[in-house]
Amino acid sequence: MATPEKIELKKQAQQLIEQYDNFLFDCDGVIWLDEKLIPGVLETIEHLESQGKRFAFVTNNSSKSRDTYIEKFHRLGFKGIGKHLIYPTCYAAASYLKEHLNVSVGAKVWVLGDHGIETELKELGYIPVGGNPEVRAVVVGSTKAFNYMRIATTLQYLLHENKSLPFIGTNIDRSYPGPEGLILPAGGSVVNYMSYTSNRDFIDVGKPSRRLLETILEQRDFDKSKTLMIGDTMYTDIKFGNDGQLGGESGGSLLVLSGGTKLKDLHHLIENPASLQDGPSLIPLKYIESFGHIIHLLSN
Ligand code: PLP
Ligand code: CA
Repeated sequence: MATPEKIELKKQAQQLIEQYDNFLFDCDGVIWLDEKLIPGVLETIEHLESQGKRFAFVTNNSSKSRDTYIEKFHRLGFKGIGKHLIYPTCYAAASYLKEHLNVSVGAKVWVLGDHGIETELKELGYIPVGGNPEVRAVVVGSTKAFNYMRIATTLQYLLHENKSLPFIGTNIDRSYPGPEGLILPAGGSVVNYMSYTSNRDFIDVGKPSRRLLETILEQRDFDKSKTLMIGDTMYTDIKFGNDGQLGGESGGSLLVLSGGTKLKDLHHLIENPASLQDGPSLIPLKYIESFGHIIHLLSN
């Protein structure tokens, strides 16, 4: 079993930056924890920018639109982060309907999810609706308004016409780290609830799916073999980088320990091959305390 390399020396940090041209950042647990910026991350990303590196932010959180994320980046001190650099799964869902399912613009879409999904659907020309027989697709994601009426309505659409309407699930995350150490239910719990009750599989447009990676690579023109994925969750972020064959032969996944995964979780995975339901694709190529630690290593 391959053992991930710990980045702890200046030389390793320098090599990491030299090796890759493009950096895909998971957001929660890598850039911020809830509303708090993770120390050193802003400075590290500014350093990458000064070296001509390119990047994009890829979050499985479908509850906020790209515009709302721009406001958050600005609030946290980032400058010049444009919409084209942000890939939340609400945007991935709207863009997948348009580019891959050929659901025509102007079609009505039923949403079980928070406002980000509706905003991104409208932006790409769709009409999010409730209780309408002309619905052409169903998008399910994280929602704080999870109640029986909405679930029951969603189920009607998922069963409609022999289960023929496309069923998009924004992400598979079971939970995410909330404020004050709380673990909160994430979009995957809503998506899987609807999958179970309708007895249908969903089209996953979040990490680790290839669909999301393809959208990013197409739109940003990143060379896959020179791209690194940075994330704090092994079954979404690290698998996304490994399955997507980022970094070419040498690999392109970096685990940060600033979010939901601790060193003991990584050790547990490496030492218990039986726990590797998804195979070695969950093991990162490298790991580091936090992405912000890079600037600290470089300045020593
Ligand atoms: N789903 C929800 C509802 C969330 O709030 C979050 C993080 O805040 C996530 C998923 C995971 O997001 P990320 O991919 O940025 O870690
Ligand atoms: Ca994360």
